Amino acid sequence: MNPKIHDIIESLTADELKTLDTDLREGHVQHLVGKRLESYERRQTMCPVCNNDPGESGFTLIFGPADFRKKATFCGQDCLEYFLGKLKEFRQPQDHNEPATGPQSHDRGENHVAH
Ligand SMILES: [Zn+2]
Repeated sequence: MNPKIHDIIESLTADELKTLDTDLREGHVQHLVGKRLESYERRQTMCPVCNNDPGESGFTLIFGPADFRKKATFCGQDCLEYFLGKLKEFRQPQDHNEPATGPQSHDRGENHVAH
């Protein structure tokens, strides 16, 4: 469970919990969650390059690794191309300066030898 939701529920009085119980049963919470999600989705359809509303004719790009997919909708081909150019610049390896944060090797205590 989301710890935020957990904390909210823990902080409610008995009366508030009864109201929440009714709201859950009657689908008010589900309705509110749906409305909030809808507004977030609407906000994400802004062109990330020029902040214009792409409308119906936007270009949607889905990118990123499989476990962290990102979606961006561009108002036009020029904004899409600009973004792809930036992405390419960002991905180009710069010199041989490997960042210090490599894949974390988990701590293995099996090398401990006692004589
Ligand atoms: Zn744009």
